[in-house]
Amino acid sequence: MTTGRAHPQAEAERTGFLRPPSFSLSRPNKAREKMTCHSCRIECRKFGKTRKGQQRYRCSQCYKTYSEPRNEYLGGMYTAPEKVEGVINLLVEGCSIRSIRRLTGIDQNTIMKILVFVGHRCQRLLENKCRNVPVSDVQCDEIWGFVGCKEKHNRTGNPEFGDAYCFVAFERASKLVLTWHLGRRSTRDTEVFIEKLNEAASGKFQIATDGFAPYFDAIHMSLGTRVDYAQLIKV
Ligand SMILES: [Zn+2]
Repeated sequence: MTTGRAHPQAEAERTGFLRPPSFSLSRPNKAREKMTCHSCRIECRKFGKTRKGQQRYRCSQCYKTYSEPRNEYLGGMYTAPEKVEGVINLLVEGCSIRSIRRLTGIDQNTIMKILVFVGHRCQRLLENKCRNVPVSDVQCDEIWGFVGCKEKHNRTGNPEFGDAYCFVAFERASKLVLTWHLGRRSTRDTEVFIEKLNEAASGKFQIATDGFAPYFDAIHMSLGTRVDYAQLIKV
């Protein structure tokens, strides 16, 4: 995949302003100037380049060849930051992993690695930034999904398989997601979720959930008198 972006300096001369640098994902290792033979412990000489343009070296004693280490970027991956950026954009658009593979030619496992890596970073960002947010009206709901197979067909005995519910709490007016929790639709997971909400939201507010019973005790326990609580049951 190529980007049709002009050189920043050339573009600055053409348009009159310098584009702010795109967010820096890269942390390239500084290419080593010298290469020592692993067996002879002597300095190797430059010996052409690989097909991908990396410098090769050859030991003048044992004739073993080496190439310079590849640049590692985001999360120890070798994929160039522009490509990673493209994958993230497609994931955010809701493209499937397989369709991204077809569009970009990047391996499915790499896409999944990027997804997990970016997910963890986003989680950390939300947990660090979304704390003690003053809110007035919060709504909670669960999104159903499943891991591996649906609960009914789960014969693996693996507790990680089956139904998975993503609890989401958001401010009704601004649609800001305050917190979320992934788990089962159980009392314990509801309590964990409401406790997370307790840390994310501050002040006295109004809260509305669906008719799921464990909410009542969990909200009473974690949020106490801080909230006005109502259940919204659709008929
Ligand atoms: Zn050698």
